[in-house]
Formats: sequence, C-alpha cells, structure tokens
Amino acid sequence: MSSLSADQKQAALETQAVNNLREYLQIPSVHPNVNYDGCVKFLEKQAKSLGLPIQVHEIVKGKPVVIISWVGREPSLPSIMLNSHMDVVPVFEDKWTYKPFSAHMDEQGNIYARGAQDMKSVGIQYLEAIRWLMSKGVTLRRTLHVTFVPDEEIGGKDGMAVFVKTNLFKNLNVCFALDEGMASETDVFALYYGERSIWRKSTTSNMFLHDADLFSLSITIVQYHLLESGKRKLGFYLKYLITLFSELL
Ligand SMILES: [Zn+2]
Repeated sequence: MSSLSADQKQAALETQAVNNLREYLQIPSVHPNVNYDGCVKFLEKQAKSLGLPIQVHEIVKGKPVVIISWVGREPSLPSIMLNSHMDVVPVFEDKWTYKPFSAHMDEQGNIYARGAQDMKSVGIQYLEAIRWLMSKGVTLRRTLHVTFVPDEEIGGKDGMAVFVKTNLFKNLNVCFALDEGMASETDVFALYYGERSIWRKSTTSNMFLHDADLFSLSITIVQYHLLESGKRKLGFYLKYLITLFSELL
C-alpha cells in the first residue's frame, strides 16, 4: 500500500471529523423526553475507534453520563475534564431550511443541524483533537476525561448536578475543566470564565510570559498557537489547548 503524504493524512482526518460531526448531529437527542441511546452508541463507536476506554453511568435511569478517558503519563496527577452535553433544544421543523436532523452540508461546507453550535460540534472537536494528537504520537502528561452529559438544556438536574456529587466524579480527580462556550466562524474565539463572563485578551508572540495568572497564561499561549496555526480547520484547534493544559497546569 502506498503511504499517504502528510497533507493527505490531514485531509483524511478532516473528512473523518466532518463525517463524525454530521453523524452525531443526525441523532435526534432532542427535548422533550430525550432518548440518549443513539448518542451512547455513537460515543461507544468513537471510543473504540480511538482505542480509549469508555464508561456509561446511569446515575439517573435513562440519563447516561458518558466518560471517555485518555490516560496520561502521570495518572496520579489531577486530571483535565472536557465536557459537553448531548441534548439539544426542541425544533420547529417548518422554520428550517433543511431538516434539523439531516445535518445537510451545502456547497460552501456549511452544516445545518439542531445542536451544531450548542454543542455537538464541541464534543466532536474534543474527540477529533485527540485523534489528531494520537496520529502524531503525542502522549499527555495528565489524564484527560471527555465527558458527555444529559439534560443540560433543562438545567442539568439529572445530569451534571447529580454527577458531581458522586464518588465516580470525585475519583476522576479533576483539576481543570472546559465546558460550553461559543462557536466561531473565524479563527477568533471568545473565551469565558464562569457563565459567559467574557474575558478579552489580545496577544502577540512574546508577551504572554508577563502574565502571572496561570489560566491567563494558558489561554494566551493557546491564542498564540491559534494565531500561528494559520488555516481554520474543524477540530484541529483543541489539540493545542489539550497538550498545553496537560503539560503546563
Ligand atoms: Zn449548550
């Protein structure tokens, strides 16, 4: 078999990322009365393709919490959690240009689906960033837990709220977590701490070392790498963030 060039490998990973996103979007995990079976099956398939262990816990029956873990080189260190929710808000189909769970992709590459921004694209970016890092032979210092929770759109009472009270969560030993933000159509990402408390920072390559605050430092470096990375590509930004947080925190 002829070996692929670096560009071909990158293109193949990107196609896979887009296909995975569209497949996830086609699962109608929509309120009310969400059936999460499709999401769990999909995530089991993703974990298998990454060769990573997956846990599915029904802390509340019918409301699974899914955890995919990438064990770090120093697993006794506190871990990093990347969270997203699987549920999406209701749809009014007659208001949609394309069917909301068709994940239609137009000629410009725009994908139309309920949950595309909020927030299945983020969940997929976590997984595709891991896939990319693995393809480069990267290992992480800290363990990374990618969590997928139910019922966020109705307050998370039977999702994250019960999950964080379990020993299961405690044993993940999380020191830093990323959750929902905002999608971006450009290379500029708005970063928030807390609930949409915007934190603005512009940076150039050599200035970040003046920042004392570690979180600020990490984000700044991420931004620096984003600026450096050039072309915008689905699912390929978080690789910087994941490696940097894993090494620096
Ligand atoms: Zn959301």
